[in-house]
Amino acid sequence: MKKVIAIDGPSGAGKSTVSREVAKALGFQYLDTGALYRAVAYYFFKKFSSIKDFSSMTEQEIQNELKNITINYHNGKIFLSDEDVSDLIRDPKIGEITSQLSTLKIVRNYLMPLQRSFAEKENTVAEGRDMTTVVFPDAWKKFYLDASPEIRARRRFEQLIRLGKNITFEEALKDVIERDKRDSSRENAPLKISNDAFYIDTSELTLQEVIEIVLKKVAEDA
Ligand code: C5P
Repeated sequence: MKKVIAIDGPSGAGKSTVSREVAKALGFQYLDTGALYRAVAYYFFKKFSSIKDFSSMTEQEIQNELKNITINYHNGKIFLSDEDVSDLIRDPKIGEITSQLSTLKIVRNYLMPLQRSFAEKENTVAEGRDMTTVVFPDAWKKFYLDASPEIRARRRFEQLIRLGKNITFEEALKDVIERDKRDSSRENAPLKISNDAFYIDTSELTLQEVIEIVLKKVAEDA
């Protein structure tokens, strides 16, 4: 049985960097499940760029499209068939479509076995919204990373500016608040704090401090 460190939290809480660095320090693989959801959204965006709202597609139509998708993922790099989409999926437009598509049970069911199959092969640090609650309820260690919406929006804004995206802080804040609402209020696998997860408020901490807290906690309980 491989070990899973499951890390959940809202967008901008520092999950990606913390998970990647913790994985590196422990020699585990890093599984970014948001990237899997984003790759699905990118596929739909590319094929149906005029469709803003997927509610016009029937479940059967979505299911038929999902059958055409081949996702390959290796330690943070993600491919749709053989196209490297690692950077393309970071576009805010894709984030918005991802957040809509990820509310659908049919999409979550499609990605569930793929996510679990990673952890069957190697010790894994898995980050997302439902790692501690739905995908890996029996994870070896569980963490929930949080921060205030303003701080998360600031981090997100700076990250997107570094990637050369055209966005204002107000847009980043609006995006964070909308995404929080959608991720927490959806019927299927909503974002919530698992009772057995170790909660870390990262608002006043540097990423390095958060990484150290996680590593210390893992070593303490090992
Ligand atoms: O983590 P990231 O911001 O890349 O995730 C993009 C979106 O994918 C989230 O806003 C959420 O709607 C969805 N997601 C999810 N379940 C996961 C990971 C991501 O619903 N395990």
